[in-house]
Amino acid sequence: MKISFHGADRGVTGSCHLFEHGGKRVLVDCGMFQGGRELEEENAEPFGFAPESIDIVLLTHAHLDHCGRLPLLVKRGFRGEIIATSATRDLAKLVLLDAAHLQEEEAMHRRRRAARHGHKEPGPPPLYGELDVFDALDRFGRNAVYARPIDLGAGLRATFLDAGHILGSASVVLEIAEGGATKTVVFSGDIGNAGRPLLRAPVTPPSADTVVMETTYGDRRHKALAPSVEELYQAIGETFRRGGNVLIPTFALERAQELLFFLREGVERGRIPGSTQVFLDSPMAITATEIYRRHPECYDPETAELFRDGGDPFSLRGLHVTREVAESEAIDAVTGGAIIMAGSGMATGGRIRRHFQRNLWRADSSVVFVGFAAAGTLARAIIDGATHVRLYGDDVAVRAQVHTINGFSAHADQEELLAWRESMHPERTILVHGEEKAMGLFAERLGSARVEMPKLGDEIEI
Ligand code: ZN
Repeated sequence: MKISFHGADRGVTGSCHLFEHGGKRVLVDCGMFQGGRELEEENAEPFGFAPESIDIVLLTHAHLDHCGRLPLLVKRGFRGEIIATSATRDLAKLVLLDAAHLQEEEAMHRRRRAARHGHKEPGPPPLYGELDVFDALDRFGRNAVYARPIDLGAGLRATFLDAGHILGSASVVLEIAEGGATKTVVFSGDIGNAGRPLLRAPVTPPSADTVVMETTYGDRRHKALAPSVEELYQAIGETFRRGGNVLIPTFALERAQELLFFLREGVERGRIPGSTQVFLDSPMAITATEIYRRHPECYDPETAELFRDGGDPFSLRGLHVTREVAESEAIDAVTGGAIIMAGSGMATGGRIRRHFQRNLWRADSSVVFVGFAAAGTLARAIIDGATHVRLYGDDVAVRAQVHTINGFSAHADQEELLAWRESMHPERTILVHGEEKAMGLFAERLGSARVEMPKLGDEIEI
């Protein structure tokens, strides 16, 4: 049996690993490369295997860097079954449709720009469109239920275990029966950060011969969550005392719901004024929150209890969900005492940029960053202390207070990753989904263990 590597190899995006045994070809994830033009161009390249030869895709979770190339896989000939948890299936619909719309829009802009410049070549077409997403959604077959094995044929069984990363996320345990013995290969997916309020802690498989694991934060420890929530409440309190608004650039999946949860708790505990207006100004985050409400089976027992009593952990008195553009623009009239959550998380696009234009120059307002900000993004520029930023052709001064709160990560840190792996006592450990530096430092912590760090296109016999 062998595994070949087709994404997230010595990098954090484009997750795609191919397991082969006894004539079965099983793909684990088929994600999109993100961040920087060169990396994104990789998406249009051949997969490194024939899409029509794949029997089954096991999808660990709905983040774009794990599911984003599925429509392309189907467009290029894949006709097998996609297996995921039902929450992942629901979120993947939203994520893939959004990705298709973005790509169609970008291709349109490229065509117009080329025409304006008098070029005949309109530039590359979109990777895929809405119809390709529908075709991909048609390939979703059996729903995976946590801890219940699924027969894949040819002596293979897959079991999805709760990875505690985002709603519906899973690690996948592959059991391979061969000559009376069973081998176990575990694919980590993305492993969550234990102790967060919505989801359960990651479940560790009992044992494994080979582990293929992520190392996103293989080199660092996270700040604790409770002090980070406290920092958030303080930033809100200070801003309101100055008479300004709080802007929070937010990712649509998990982070937006987690923030709503903490804001509701803040109001209930008297840490945030009951009169606070909270705007969730992101159509994608609004739909994602509705999907979160549909899947109480995925929650931590305490949060599940809130649902059982007819409550809603994501709702608070002053909450306004603003799906329409006109509703979003009406927020401009609110000059103080409001919390505005909008995408995109790194402020590279989306409605947060308009709120920045309206509020960044005001010394009484504040911006609170609660997520990862890659180099080269507007979020990163502001975090790094830019005094002016360009927005809609305008030079906007940054006078608002800038807070960066680091304790909200959805990923396990180095100690959690070590403990996750250690409990399985694997003979072989294959590291993926991490920058080279993080991966290297994590490998050092594994000491004399047998560790491999494949490159894109590598194949490993196991
Ligand atoms: Zn993820």
